[in-house]
Amino acid sequence: MSAAIIDGKAIAAQLRTRIAAQVARFRQSKGVAPGLAVVLVGEDPASQVYVRNKGKASVAAGIDSFEHRLDAATSQDELLALIGRLNADPSIHGILVQLPLPPQIDAGRVIDAIDPDKDVDGFHISNVGRLNTGQPGMVPCTPLGCLMMLRDHLGDLSGAEAVVLGRSNIVGKPMAQLLLRDNATVTIAHSRTRDLADICRRAEILVAAAGRPGMIGADWIRPGATVIDVGINRVPAASGKTRLVGDVEFDAAVAVAGAITPVPGGVGPMTIACLLANTLTAACRAHGVPAPEGLTT
Ligand code: NAD
Repeated sequence: MSAAIIDGKAIAAQLRTRIAAQVARFRQSKGVAPGLAVVLVGEDPASQVYVRNKGKASVAAGIDSFEHRLDAATSQDELLALIGRLNADPSIHGILVQLPLPPQIDAGRVIDAIDPDKDVDGFHISNVGRLNTGQPGMVPCTPLGCLMMLRDHLGDLSGAEAVVLGRSNIVGKPMAQLLLRDNATVTIAHSRTRDLADICRRAEILVAAAGRPGMIGADWIRPGATVIDVGINRVPAASGKTRLVGDVEFDAAVAVAGAITPVPGGVGPMTIACLLANTLTAACRAHGVPAPEGLTT
């Protein structure tokens, strides 16, 4: 048996095409484009790549992209002042502050200064509360992308035994909430969980978000399970360079799982597509029109 490969790149490409068409409709009917502001503080090389890719993807979808690149020495007050201006700017529907922030800035303070309706990362405490109480809000992009792939592959998730490995605020916890909302039976496992392998082996849906390269071997996977590998880990490659791997030992897991996402080409592309989806959703809501079907939960 060999697992079906859930092609995140292809699913994300389809989603981006759909979003571009819906953005075009929005621009035509409202006379404005959805606007996304991306704020980068400092020169972290990985963050620079992420911000550039987000900007490119926005423009390709017809979304206006506004990049704010601030010096690494920017004070918290200066950043909060910028957030205040973006909150008040009607041409901006989504605000994303690229993390991590330099040590002089409290990321929590900054995130909570963003207007929750413009918080396209879904990290604001109001959006966490909305997600947990089943109200419409902004859903974090990575777990939203995972949910879309699961729905795409499995259809109805009702009653499925799901295990989420990882309990971070940006992936594990919102992922568990989304699965719960889709009526799965959800276990959250983490670094203090006992009998981790046994728990993972129970899962019909296994979402791995621990950030530990290859920690999930074939013997942790229930035969036929759907495995979503969120992990992105850089490891040394035979060539002497480095390569990206997930949390799952992919080559061994394909022999056991029913379906699996590759790394790269699985969750990553869906995350960016979901940022575009969230920006369009925010723009629609700001203009009092319902968000297009299928872009949010
Ligand atoms: P994090 O470090 O904040 O959280 C990791 C979680 O895994 C923690 O809750 C911890 O309890 C758990 N964990 C760590 N080691 C463990 C172990 N040995 N056994 C059991 N549980 C363990 O990380 P995060 O921000 O949630 O990200 C997780 C992974 O997902 C990282 O590899 C990150 O790069 C990746 N990620 C990918 C995307 C994407 O778009 N594909 C987006 C965000 C994060």
